[in-house]
Amino acid sequence: MTAQIIDGKALAETLRQTFKARVEALTARGQRPGLVVILVGEDPASQVYVRNKVNGCLAIGMHSEKIVYPADIAPRVVLDKIAELNADPQVHGILVQLPLPAQFDEQEILEAISPEKDVDGFHAENVGALLQGQPHFIPCTPYGVMKMLEAAGIDLTGKEAVVIGRSNIVGKPMAALLINAGATVTVCHSKTRNLAEHVRRADLVVAAVGRAKFVTPDMLKPGAVVIDVGINRLPDGSLCGDVDFAACQSVAGQITPVPGGVGPMTITMLLANTIEAAERKAGLR
Ligand code: NAD
Repeated sequence: MTAQIIDGKALAETLRQTFKARVEALTARGQRPGLVVILVGEDPASQVYVRNKVNGCLAIGMHSEKIVYPADIAPRVVLDKIAELNADPQVHGILVQLPLPAQFDEQEILEAISPEKDVDGFHAENVGALLQGQPHFIPCTPYGVMKMLEAAGIDLTGKEAVVIGRSNIVGKPMAALLINAGATVTVCHSKTRNLAEHVRRADLVVAAVGRAKFVTPDMLKPGAVVIDVGINRLPDGSLCGDVDFAACQSVAGQITPVPGGVGPMTITMLLANTIEAAERKAGLR
């Protein structure tokens, strides 16, 4: 058996095309969707992510800008800027690129963003709404995974799902979404005993660990759907997921590649959240 590839790159492109008409309709009503990304410091990976987010917006006719602060900036300056953006009617989404330098309390910064403009979905109010099954903004990476599962026609009702990783950004919201979709969910993490035994039960595995080729074929139930969130850089400079893709392809039923899987969907769902914010503001939702 060779697993069917779930192509995130192609799905992301299809979705972005459909977003253009929504952006045009909003622009015609004077509500051109606008995203502001705040970057503190010069972390090279963060710089790439921020550039891709801003360019992703501009490519479909949205407004987007980045605000860059030096790494030693006082948190008060960033909090004041967030307050200003919260009050700006041209801004529908505000995102602070993580991680932040040590002088910052990340949670304080995330909570300063208006929940109405929290397009990353990390504000406590939005996390709570997701857990209650009434999401307002869904964190972009797990949102992208759900869209991929939907596009691949995978019914999650009653399925055994195992999420590896329990971060606030990926693992925990992923688990909440799968529960809301009717799956029976196990969350594995760094303290889990007999991890492979849990994974072997899974009809769906979502790997968000941050370790190259962590998931191996012996851990999979034949035919399982395998979603690889991981982005790891190998010594030769190439990108690799948390799943040993080449080896798992012969056991899995469906599998996402890295690159070209979950990655392109993350920014796509950021665009979706910002458009949704603008549609709410325009009374279209
Ligand atoms: P994180 O470091 O915050 O969390 C990693 C999780 O893995 C932790 O909960 C930890 O308990 C678990 N873990 C670590 N070692 C383990 C082990 N040996 N066994 C079991 N569990 C273990 O990372 P994150 O922000 O959740 O990101 C995870 C991965 O996904 C990273 O590779 C990151 O680069 C990638 N990522 C990709 C996207 C995307 O757009 N595709 C978005 C966010 C994160």
